[in-house]
Amino acid sequence: MQSLEAFKRLGLSGQILLAIRKYAFTTPTPIQDKAIPQILKGDDLLVEAQTGSGKTACFAWLILQQISERKREGKKIVSALILTPTRELALQVTETLVNFGVFLTNRVSVLTVIGGESIEQQTQTLKSGVDIVVATPGRLLDLLDQKLLSLRHLNFFVLDEADKILDLGFAAELDSILQNVPGVRQNLFFSATYPEKVLEIVKRISKNPLPVKIDDVTPTVETIFQRVIEVNKEKRGMLLRHLIKEEKWSDGLVFVASKVAAHNLCGKLKKAGVRAGALHGDLSQPERNKALADFKRRKIDFLVATDVAARGIDIEKLSVVINYDLPRSPADYIHRIGRTGRAGETGLAVSFIDHEDQEHFKLIEKRAQIKLEREEVAGFELTGEAPEKVRGALPVKGKRKSKKDRAREAKQLKPQAT
Ligand code: AMP
Repeated sequence: MQSLEAFKRLGLSGQILLAIRKYAFTTPTPIQDKAIPQILKGDDLLVEAQTGSGKTACFAWLILQQISERKREGKKIVSALILTPTRELALQVTETLVNFGVFLTNRVSVLTVIGGESIEQQTQTLKSGVDIVVATPGRLLDLLDQKLLSLRHLNFFVLDEADKILDLGFAAELDSILQNVPGVRQNLFFSATYPEKVLEIVKRISKNPLPVKIDDVTPTVETIFQRVIEVNKEKRGMLLRHLIKEEKWSDGLVFVASKVAAHNLCGKLKKAGVRAGALHGDLSQPERNKALADFKRRKIDFLVATDVAARGIDIEKLSVVINYDLPRSPADYIHRIGRTGRAGETGLAVSFIDHEDQEHFKLIEKRAQIKLEREEVAGFELTGEAPEKVRGALPVKGKRKSKKDRAREAKQLKPQAT
């Protein structure tokens, strides 16, 4: 018998509990345990949480509950804005809001405001009244500029995957959006990491957000079997097809570095009879939605994606994540492999590396505090020599000097008073 006591204790209303029961959740996740009571108090929060931690539900439940309780006579004004870095994530957040709002007596309406879909339709829906807007920055600004949307009565402002929003260069857009919102509101930031530049922007938006963090932010990584296979770049496609067949991989996310690579690799896999789809920014929104839906419904077994397109997407129980191309930053390595081995299951993460990737992968290992054996697969052994000046040649993020290194260098240049 499912007990909802633990959820109830957090302060969730009976109507939200009904929806939670429908999804058969038994206990709040650690981040829900910590964040929900604080959100209810009205605090601004800085939540350090990854995809898969149950973070969407944290804000979705509370926003639905509070808007529904405060609603008068069915009047609809935009009371909550949730900003996400990608269209897919925006659609996914909307889905969560809709799913958990089904038992509310005062219904709460949600609109996804994203590019690639009809602006007219979004405008029409806005005219008939909307309570929550889930948006990517570009289209939202379009609507604000044309005065088709007002955020003057906003109570909740959520920045989901804040680090990615800023990584994608949305800082200026964010500033423009904030000029349209009232000074008094509750700000909730969710991000897997908080690099300094994100914190700077957070400071501009909220004076004193309360940090919320679970002790170990990467617990899932321990349940992931990580492999590193050395292979020449040009043989990776063949090796992948070989491993899919020989090791009977059934469903997986393949990460590549570019849209072109996603397109090409997907084509090759399909040609070899693998049920694959691509997810990248050059596809139209309906194509992106279809690829994702096909993958979730298991119509395809492998999704070949770029980091940006796959960010924040919740796909249950992936059995394998393949780094066909290594991620640029060590933090992205953790994000990527976190897609497998969820909820206590064992997952598999495989990285293909060649001579040029060696240094970069060492850096990833250092940051992730892991040390992995290099493997080779018979028939696909790495050949050739390591190029001489690999180090300086790689335009990877992790190769930039660290703050510590810069400080050390500055110290050496400047005579220090003792
Ligand atoms: P998120 O971190 O928001 O991407 O959520 C990851 C997944 O966890 C989603 O599929 C949610 O439906 C699921 N989830 C959220 N809260 C819980 C919970 N308390 N128990 C089990 N699953 C949950």
